[in-house]
Amino acid sequence: QPKAEIIAVGTELLLGQIANTNAQWISQQLALYGINIYHHTVVGDNLNRVVGAFSDAHSRSDIIIVTGGLGPTEDDLTREAFQQLSKLDMVEHKPSMDKIELFFREHKVVMTPNNRRQARVFTDSIVLDNKVGMAPGMIVSYDNRKWVFLPGVPREMMSLVTNDVLPYLLQLVGNKAIIKSEVLRFIGIGESILEHEIKDIIHGQSNPTIAPLATDSGVIIRLTARADSSEDAIRLIEESKQEILSKIGNFFYGTEQQTLEQQIVDKLRVSNKRLALAESLTGGMATSKLVSVSGASDVLRGGIVCYDPKVKEGVLGVSSKTIAAFGTVSEECAIEMATNVCLVLDADIGISFTGVAGPNESEGKPVGMVYIAVCTRDGHQQVEEFRFQGDRDTIRNRAVLKGLEILFN
Ligand code: ATP
Ligand code: MG
Repeated sequence: QPKAEIIAVGTELLLGQIANTNAQWISQQLALYGINIYHHTVVGDNLNRVVGAFSDAHSRSDIIIVTGGLGPTEDDLTREAFQQLSKLDMVEHKPSMDKIELFFREHKVVMTPNNRRQARVFTDSIVLDNKVGMAPGMIVSYDNRKWVFLPGVPREMMSLVTNDVLPYLLQLVGNKAIIKSEVLRFIGIGESILEHEIKDIIHGQSNPTIAPLATDSGVIIRLTARADSSEDAIRLIEESKQEILSKIGNFFYGTEQQTLEQQIVDKLRVSNKRLALAESLTGGMATSKLVSVSGASDVLRGGIVCYDPKVKEGVLGVSSKTIAAFGTVSEECAIEMATNVCLVLDADIGISFTGVAGPNESEGKPVGMVYIAVCTRDGHQQVEEFRFQGDRDTIRNRAVLKGLEILFN
């Protein structure tokens, strides 16, 4: 079996500004294919040290996967470093250059010369088309090693690994396995409780791998199975799914495509109801989530971002008495916002978000206090107070998620 290792390039990783999730994710994927990873290295954006890390890796591994440092800026040194080590020539890769030029033309942005660097590839390398970004990936055969170069941006890296690198390595190591994966979505349960509930299941098996992940639309679990046939892989996933759902099925709401916002739109369509949103601290984020669903126009009237109290009054018609008596962060204001947005935007259901995103308290209300109201045209009113923890972004995201959860239920 070949020995593999991963090198992540980037000073922000060393500074702890971001975690090396690329190495974590790649390791999980390769493990599934039976390719063992022997080292993770993180190295800053410094030419000598990157060359040093590359040369250590070269001396001990057969497959070396490098992420980061392929971009256009001065601190992107991965190419230079490998060139120093390997003395391989570099050439401009025409299709990549065309793509970069097209991007700048289409976006009417002047292309600076350093952007050409992204199209430079090692001669005789396999160039991997980056479908979600600019810099292509590369697989270079050098001195009986396979060097794989990938962009640092996780989305780009994942797309290249899934589409190009894994199939390549699979064939290289002569592994004919079939890989299938499925996503289970949960709401109303936090990541740590979820993990706790199924920890025996997670630790009790390695195929499929079970990876919980907190996202801004709730916690998801990704199951990835390896088998000799597609049917077997699907069966493994199904068995594991049933086991997981037997523990936390109450919180399960959908699979990969069935996002919360998708299901809300579907549900509104079935019940033939139209929705409007009044958003203060969430600033349009909840509306934006719903708009991301294709076909939202059937059920979504629109959203009003009513951040300033004067806009709550002037545009939504929240009464000045309510605001004077209870403040904008109150049950009363939330209810008026939700009721009035129905009328103003001619909807059947209105939802409102008002609260204190922080970092400072407001109107004497603490950071994280949020009211979400749902009111219908026919007079039904529901309002709840929440105390979300976290920084401004976290509080705003949690409010959106909670609002979607309320709409879904
Ligand atoms: P770019 O074209 O964006 O410059 P790049 O290939 O040069 O891409 P980097 O500049 O190293 O990649 O990283 C881009 C971004 O990707 C970083 O700001 C960081 O947010 C993220 N990133 C990079 N490396 C990792 C990693 N190992 N784990 C998680 N995220 C990463
Ligand atoms: Mg970069």
